[in-house]
Amino acid sequence: MDIKPQEISALIKEQIKDFNYEYKSSDLGRVIQVGDGIALVYGLDNVMAGELLKFNHGVYGMVLNLETDHVGVVLMGNDRLIKEGDEVERTNSIVEVGVGDGLLGRVVNSLGQVIDGGDEIEYSKFRPIERVAPGVMTRQSVHEPLHTGIKIIDSMIPIGKGQRELIIGDRQTGKTAIVIDTIINQKGKDVYCVYVAIGQKASTVAQIQERLIQNDAMKYTVIVSATAAQQAPLQYIAPYTGCAIAEEWMDQGKDVLIIYDDLSKHAVAYRTISLLLRRPAGREAYPGDVFYLHSRLLERSAKLNENYGGGSMTALPLIETQAGDISAYIPTNVISITDGQLYLLSDYFNSGIRPAVDSGMSVSRVGSAAQSKAMKKVSASLKLNLAQYAEMQSFAQFGSDVDKATQRVLNQGARLTELLKQTQYAPLPQSLIVLSLFLHTYDYLPEIPVDHVSRFEKFAHDQFKENYQEYLDEIDETNDLSDDLVDKMKEAMDGVLERYLRQHGLQVDDGE
Ligand code: ATP
Ligand code: MG
Repeated sequence: MDIKPQEISALIKEQIKDFNYEYKSSDLGRVIQVGDGIALVYGLDNVMAGELLKFNHGVYGMVLNLETDHVGVVLMGNDRLIKEGDEVERTNSIVEVGVGDGLLGRVVNSLGQVIDGGDEIEYSKFRPIERVAPGVMTRQSVHEPLHTGIKIIDSMIPIGKGQRELIIGDRQTGKTAIVIDTIINQKGKDVYCVYVAIGQKASTVAQIQERLIQNDAMKYTVIVSATAAQQAPLQYIAPYTGCAIAEEWMDQGKDVLIIYDDLSKHAVAYRTISLLLRRPAGREAYPGDVFYLHSRLLERSAKLNENYGGGSMTALPLIETQAGDISAYIPTNVISITDGQLYLLSDYFNSGIRPAVDSGMSVSRVGSAAQSKAMKKVSASLKLNLAQYAEMQSFAQFGSDVDKATQRVLNQGARLTELLKQTQYAPLPQSLIVLSLFLHTYDYLPEIPVDHVSRFEKFAHDQFKENYQEYLDEIDETNDLSDDLVDKMKEAMDGVLERYLRQHGLQVDDGE
C-alpha cells in the first residue's frame, strides 16, 4: 500500500474544516492503514500514549506509537471490521479496568469482562492498568512470611509478603503446580490471590479454575486470562490488568498474592506487537524496552508501611527457559528485577524429585527476614547438607569404596532428598513442615530405609496430630522451638520411631 499521510491529510483537513470544535472531549481521527491487528491513525494530535481509542463496530485500540504525523494503535478486537478512512474517537482515558471484591471467584479477560459464563460484575470503581510504582517512602521492608506450604520452599527459600520471587524452569517442570499450591495454601490466611494466565491454552486455565474450586480456593482468588488464541495486545496488557486489580486491594491494606504465568509468553506477545509497529528489534528480536516492560510491572509489588495502610503485594512471576538456559535475554532480565529465584530442573523432575527445586541455584534475598524462629532452627543446615550430598554423589558414581564419613553424607542426603519431596495439591501447615524437618535435624532418619522415608513422615504427622497436638499448637502459637519443646518432641518422637520400626518389622541397627 502506498499511501502518504501527507496526501490524505489535505483531504481530511478539508473534511474537518467546519468541524464543531466545541466537541472537545473526543477529538476525531481517521484510519489511514489497518492490518495485522495494527492501525495507523491520522489526526489525533493530542492523544496520550496508552490511550484507549474507539473504532467502529465497538472495537477498541490502544495507542502505542506516537509519530510526528500519525499514531500507531494496537487493536483489541477484530481488525477486519475496521476500514481505511474510518473515524476514530478519542476516549481521553488510558486503559482502565474494574476492580473490587466483586471479582473474587471470577474469571475475567484482560479488559475485565467476565468470561466464566456467570453474571456480569457490577464494578463500583475503575483503575488505570498502568500506574507508577509506590515510592521508597511509602514502603517498609519485608518482614512477614508468605507461606507456600511447600517444604523445600518454606524451609530453604522462604518468601515474604511484598517480595518478588521468580519461578524459572523448562517446560513441564512443575512451575504452575508450585503457584497453584501456594494459592491453595492461602486458605483462611486472609490473602487475596490474582492468577494471571498469559498465552496458555483455554483448557489449561479451565483446569486450574476447576482445581481451585475443588480446593475451596476460588473464593479469595480471581483469574485474569488472556489465552494463546487471543490477540497479542490482550496478552500484553493482561499482567497490568491483574496488577491493577491487586493494587486496589493492596491500597486497602490487604495482603495480595499475584502470579504471572508466564512472562516469557508476555515478552513474546510484546515482541509481536513491536515488530508489527515497526519498532527496531534488538537482541533475540525483542525491542529495546522489553526490560522496562517487566521492571515497571514487578516494581509495583510492595510492602506498604503503616501510613499507607500496611498492605502488600507479593509477586510470583514465572519464566520458561529453553534447555535450562537461564542466561537468555528475558530470563536474565527478570532474574535481575526480582528478589530471588526458584530454579526448577527437568532432570530432577523426571527422576521423581518433585518439586524439582535446585536448592543450590535458588535463592530468596529478602524472605529469610520473615522466616519464623522454629523454621530457622530446623532448616539451618539443609542447604549445606544437600550441597555436600550433590558433591559426594558424583564421587560415589565412580564406584570406589567410600569412607564412613562420606557414606554418612550420602545416606543423610538420600533421606533428606526423599523427605523434601511433596505431592501436588497438598500444601502443609507450618507446624507439620517443622515436624518433618525435625526428623532430619534431630537424626531420626538414619534408621529408616530410603524408600520408607515418606511413609514414616506421614506416620509421624498422624501420630503427632493424634497424640501430641499440643506440641504442634505450641509451634504455631510461639513460632519458636524452645529447648523445652524440643526435649518434649524428642521424647515423643523416640516412641513414634520405635513404633514405626516395630510395625514394619525393620531392624533397629546402630551401625552404618
Ligand atoms: P508448562 O511449561 O507446560 O507450563 P509447568 O512447568 O507449569 O509446565 P506443571 O503444569 O505445573 O508444569 O506440571 C507438569 C506436570 O507435572 C503436571 O501434570 C503436574 O500435575 C505434574 N506435577 C507437578 N508438580 C508435581 C508434584 N509435586 N508431584 C507430582 N506431580 C507433579
Ligand atoms: Mg505452567
